[in-house]
Amino acid sequence: MTKDHKPVVPGWFTTSGEDFSLLGTRCTACGTVFFPRQETFCSNPACAGTEFAEVPLSRRGTVWSYTNAGYRPPAPFVSDPDAEWQPFTIIAVRLEAEGLIVLGQGAPGVGVDDLKVGVEVEIVPGVLYENDEHVYTTWNVRPVEVKA
Ligand SMILES: [Zn+2]
Repeated sequence: MTKDHKPVVPGWFTTSGEDFSLLGTRCTACGTVFFPRQETFCSNPACAGTEFAEVPLSRRGTVWSYTNAGYRPPAPFVSDPDAEWQPFTIIAVRLEAEGLIVLGQGAPGVGVDDLKVGVEVEIVPGVLYENDEHVYTTWNVRPVEVKA
């Protein structure tokens, strides 16, 4: 049986694997891009915009900062209490075009030793957890493979 894939946060990213990207919103008045998405009023203090268009965010950025989360995250994050706890990496990615910093969890196997500030990374589909019925999907960050 194939499990249903459900986004952890509906509307924050596309759900088709091939064109995966985070979804932000752009203020139609001043052009500022927001992620997490803003939809009621613009937080640019110089702007009174109240209309927003959904925009896919850049799929690549550079490492702005990162840290190792060596503890079980508190609610609402879910981790299987019976599974061996795997520390994970939290990466802050700078998206140049949008002027945004986006936080993401490192893809499986990506540790702090694989990262350096300024290194190019990509945002890829990931799985937060699964249960008997569903696979809960999220986004992960991993260094861009250097192709020879
Ligand atoms: Zn605005």
